[in-house]
Formats: sequence, structure tokens, C-alpha cells
Amino acid sequence: MLTVLGSTGSIGINTLQVAEHLGLPVYAITGNTKIAELAAQAVRYRVQEVVIADPAGYAQLRRLVPAHIRVEAGSQALSAVASAPAVTAVMTAIVGAAGLPATLAAVRAAKRVCIANKEPLVMAGGLIMAEARRCGAVIVPVDSEHSAMFQCLEGHHPDEVAELILTSSGGPFRTVMDLSAVTRDQALTHPTWKMGPKITIDSATLMNKSLEIIEARWLFDIEAKRIRVLVHPQSVVHSMVSYRDGSVLAQLGLPDMQVPIQYALTWPKHVPGQVAAPDFARMANLTFEDPDRVRFPSLDIGYHAADVGGVVPAVMNAANELAVAAYLAGHGCFTDIFRVVGDAVEHAPTVVDPTLADIIAADHETRARLNTDQEFRKK
Ligand code: NDP
Ligand code: MG
Repeated sequence: MLTVLGSTGSIGINTLQVAEHLGLPVYAITGNTKIAELAAQAVRYRVQEVVIADPAGYAQLRRLVPAHIRVEAGSQALSAVASAPAVTAVMTAIVGAAGLPATLAAVRAAKRVCIANKEPLVMAGGLIMAEARRCGAVIVPVDSEHSAMFQCLEGHHPDEVAELILTSSGGPFRTVMDLSAVTRDQALTHPTWKMGPKITIDSATLMNKSLEIIEARWLFDIEAKRIRVLVHPQSVVHSMVSYRDGSVLAQLGLPDMQVPIQYALTWPKHVPGQVAAPDFARMANLTFEDPDRVRFPSLDIGYHAADVGGVVPAVMNAANELAVAAYLAGHGCFTDIFRVVGDAVEHAPTVVDPTLADIIAADHETRARLNTDQEFRKK
């Protein structure tokens, strides 16, 4: 049985549709603010438990959900449904650092952990992967690029790999020279993918690629300098693995998250799905170019955070979450996001081999500092 953490979001909704298609029963679903949607999902997918992360929504959810379905609230309840004995697979589709405790709970309970929620991996990927090995959890990536690399790496030894090639659509501003003039609506209109608001902004700043470099670094145990970002505007080649003999394996598909979501649930098998394969004869062209690291300083910030390690990726992630939330709330301009995240990373403390407590402290301190920072509040 499946638990879907963050079922009311973009990945969550797609996961429930894929589960229905596969005939996979859903044990539990979780949401945060969309109470009516969550209640409707609970009925439609005949779940046994439904959890609302924000306890303020409990009473309303309880009223909307039939009595035979268990209703819980709060962070511990999220971890409980991620580790319940009846559950075999967990889809992590909460957005941001908020998903860290439940991700760890699923890993420690040795589930198949289908990871869409990349931020916990960015913050604490070393610890999460070590816990997975210790507890026998199987981690299967859902992020389309990582699903692609995961597939291209299957059956090969890490020594055979020259580099991972992480593709990026380039976002809506790939060809826009002056990023200080772009609008929020433009930033929220992604050229190829339909996603939740936070990752849509991350895709426009290319911060999403920086998060993905670190995500790949931990998932595939490879140094960031051997992960190359390549802009591919059509989003058909989802990523590639370059082998040492000059051979490159790529995974291709239409830009539809149902494909990597389904593969994470059915791995190691490819079973019939609801998305067609690309029709290559109807495709005008597939093009590739290097990213512009001057216009998008987010990439250098990401490589730096990956290189230094310690708590720096957690600081980068927390600053980005706050900067994006402020931007989405109507504050500041697009390029402020680069400035805020860059400053936070520059001033991040050095912690060698951080514990989970160190990482969580760095996350909290970054949020607290930015929330009291006059410059940031002015944004
Ligand atoms: P959405 O914003 O669409 O959905 C986020 C989900 O998380 C919702 O169910 C939301 O609940 C819930 N949520 C939000 N805040 C909290 C919180 N504090 N505690 C508990 N639950 C919370 O995001 P996406 O589906 O786009 O993305 C989810 C994750 O997957 C992100 O980490 C993203 O980077 C990653 N991802 C997404 C892709 C995509 O195509 N969308 C592609 C690859 C990765 P509610 O809606 O009820 O408030
Ligand atoms: Mg991705």
C-alpha cells in the first residue's frame, strides 16, 4: 500500500492518478492548507488515514471526511503514516524542508521511498542515504532528471561513469538578457513543465538545477564537479550518463511527471502507462547549449555549496525557500533571490560532518536571520 505525502500538490495529484491506473491501494494521504481537496481525495481514493500538517485545519477536515477514515494532524502524524506497517511505498511530495522528518521516517521504516521532495536530500542527503543503507530502504528518484540518470546507470558500476549530464529546460528566461525587468507572472509560466509554484520559480532562477546537482550528488554518490548542467529547451532528453568509453546513455520521454512517478512505483519494471512515447518524426529538433552562469549565478552558488558541503547546502536551501516565498508574496524583484541566497551561502558556518541536529539548526538559524534582516524584509 502507498502513502502519498503532499497529495494535494502537483506531484501528489499525479501520483494518485498513477496509483489508480496501476490499481495500487492508497493507505494514507497528507496535505497542509487545501482541506476540501484533501477530504475529496480521501473519499475518492478510499484511504484509511488522512493527515493535515497544519493542526488548525483538523476540525474542518474531520467534519468533511467520513467517520470510518482516520484523521490526524501535525508533523508526527506525517511521520506515522510514512512508516505505518501496512505501507510498502511512500511518495514524498511535500514541498521544501518541511518534508524532512517524514522522509527520514519512511527511510528508517525500510519502505520503498519514492523521492520527489528534493529539499531534504539537499539538506541532509548524506545522512538520508546512510540511513537507507543501514535500514534497508530503497530510494527511487522521482525528479525527472534523476529518474533518467537512475535508469541510465542501472546495471553499471560507478567506476564506468565519466560524468552525469543534468539537463535543464533553461526556464522561461533562457533568452532574456535583462533579468531585473522580468515579472512574477512570467516567472510563473514555465515553458515545458506544469508544477507547483515554488519549483516553478526555482526553475526560472535555475536554483532548481543547483538543488538537483546536490540531489544527484547524494543519490548517485558522485562529486558535484562530475555533474554537468546542459540546457535542453525541449525537455525531452531528461538527463544522460556519459561513460568513460565515450558512450552516452540518455533517457527520453514527453515532459509529463506521470512517467517518472510511475517508474518509481513500478521499478524495476516498465509497465503500461497513460503517457505516450515521444513521436520523434514529429519533433522539429532537440537542441543543447551550455547554461549562462553569469546571468544565472544560482549555478555557481549551487556548485560552491555542493563542494563545501557541511551545512552550506541546508543554508542555501533555507535562504532560497524564504526568498522564493517572499517573491511569491509580491515582495522584491526576481534578481533579489540570487542576492539573498548568495549572501546566505557566503556567510554560512563551516561544520564538518554535520549531524542531523546541526543541519536542522542551520536551517532554523538561516530562516530566523532572514526574517529579522532589515534588507530582506524591505524586499
Ligand atoms: P506543490 O506546491 O504543488 O505541493 C506541495 C504539497 O506539499 C501540497 O500537498 C501541500 O499541501 C504540501 N505542503 C506544503 N507545505 C507543507 C508543510 N509545511 N507541511 C506539510 N505539507 C506541506 O509542490 P509540487 O508538487 O510541485 O512539488 C513537491 C515536491 O516535489 C517539491 O520538493 C518539488 O521540488 C518536487 N518536484 C516537483 C516536480 C513537479 O513537477 N511539480 C518535479 C520534480 C520535483 P497543501 O496544498 O494542502 O497546502
Ligand atoms: Mg527536475
